[in-house]
Amino acid sequence: MIRVYNTLSKQKENFQPLEEGKVGIYLCGPTVYDKSHIGHMVGPIIFDTIKRYLSFSGMDVTWVVNITDVDDKLIMKSRDRGIPMEAIAEEMTEDYLKNLAALGVDQIDQMPKATEHMDEIIQFTQDLIDKGFAYAVDGDVFFDVAADQGYGKLSNRSADAAQGAGGEAASRKKSASDFALWKAAKDDEPSWDSPWGKGRPGWHIECSAMSRGILGESFDIHGGGLDLVFPHHENELAQSECCHGKPMVKYWMHNGLMRAGDATGKVGGRSDREAEEQQQATVETKISRSKGAGGLADLIDTHGGERIRFFLLRTHYRSTIIFSEPGLEEAGVALESFYRLFERFERITGTDFYTIAPTAERTQGEFEAGDCEFLKQVADHRQSYLDHMDDDFNTGGATSDLFDLVRTINRFIDEHQLEQAESTEAIAALTQAVTTLRELSAILGVFKTPPANSAGGDALTNQLMELLIALRAEARASKNFEIADRIRDGLAEIGVTIEDRKDGTGWRAG
Ligand SMILES: [Zn+2]
Repeated sequence: MIRVYNTLSKQKENFQPLEEGKVGIYLCGPTVYDKSHIGHMVGPIIFDTIKRYLSFSGMDVTWVVNITDVDDKLIMKSRDRGIPMEAIAEEMTEDYLKNLAALGVDQIDQMPKATEHMDEIIQFTQDLIDKGFAYAVDGDVFFDVAADQGYGKLSNRSADAAQGAGGEAASRKKSASDFALWKAAKDDEPSWDSPWGKGRPGWHIECSAMSRGILGESFDIHGGGLDLVFPHHENELAQSECCHGKPMVKYWMHNGLMRAGDATGKVGGRSDREAEEQQQATVETKISRSKGAGGLADLIDTHGGERIRFFLLRTHYRSTIIFSEPGLEEAGVALESFYRLFERFERITGTDFYTIAPTAERTQGEFEAGDCEFLKQVADHRQSYLDHMDDDFNTGGATSDLFDLVRTINRFIDEHQLEQAESTEAIAALTQAVTTLRELSAILGVFKTPPANSAGGDALTNQLMELLIALRAEARASKNFEIADRIRDGLAEIGVTIEDRKDGTGWRAG
């Protein structure tokens, strides 16, 4: 049974979709006014993995991520750059999609844009007015927080503590905590016709309207960063539940935010959202300074999407992620141990790991270990992995299980000397174990394609290694064992192992 931590109940609950076997997920997406930074990728990577796991567990999942393409920030950016708001939105949406693809996020089913759902947003606002939960003043429409008895239940705040936008709109509101559903257009702002005159929607109503349009009045999972619990999700919940008179969402799931660590990975700084953004920008600049312009694109260029994704998934999604260059480097080293195993496996069996089709559903991946001690261990690692994922998608625990599995497989290869000797039975067991590794790693969305430098180094490293291996062979041929051993031992000291195999000499790092 999968268990999920629900922000609404503040506890883990058994996961039981509203409709057996079907799951609807809505994740608040970006406001596309600037290029994405690494913090924007946390939610998509986590929910991409959650969707994979729910599908693997036999559910039919629809995952929606919205795009906010009309907003104060977009309007300001459009003025700064002297180009239309739509052009900004288009450019930044493209940047966002490119980054998602690089990080292996490919499970999103629909990405609705606010500007393409204006009729539904206006209708939703009108419904709230008709039901007595909203009021129009001089072209603005506000949600009447005092009319909603349940307001504050998600974030545990009272309506009094909630402060809506101040500024010149404040004077038209009944109460400071009321928030805008519709904003009257100022002179040269982009606007749409509505029963209250020309204007544009507030941010919160967009999500209520688009989630209803695609997933219905009630759906299973609503996700977002912890920073969205209040006011955004509290207000979405208020709008939808007042409008429909029933729960909007069964499970509210919130991911932890990212903090910049310094070179040692230590955390510092304040916790508000601006400090957050500031820190992420600093970290990205720090990490990619050597590459020039900075930003997420450079981070991906430098480290590769797989490493960044793996790094993020090693932390439980509800924890704060400490983002640092040493952390990323460490994830890179960890991934190398997988790549080396894939190479060993291919040398032994002739099968390319990447051509093994991952098991689509969990029952299909079960196998008989018989009295084979090795396969029993593999089955235990698999069970431990599934238990971790069942427990509120603990990807951190699940990745440790993958490492355990890699160690167990490497030990088995060593003990049976599979790289030198043929053993049909041992090779069948090895193939089963590696197929399980394929199954479990696919849930995390990693190892879809071979890394760019599959030998573990860049082209220069590979050439240097070939040269050293050739020198060692020549030394041995001329019985100069002292030099041959010095090459082997010297490499061992820097973590490189020379392996004499039946098809020649190879090497592996780590
Ligand atoms: Zn939202």
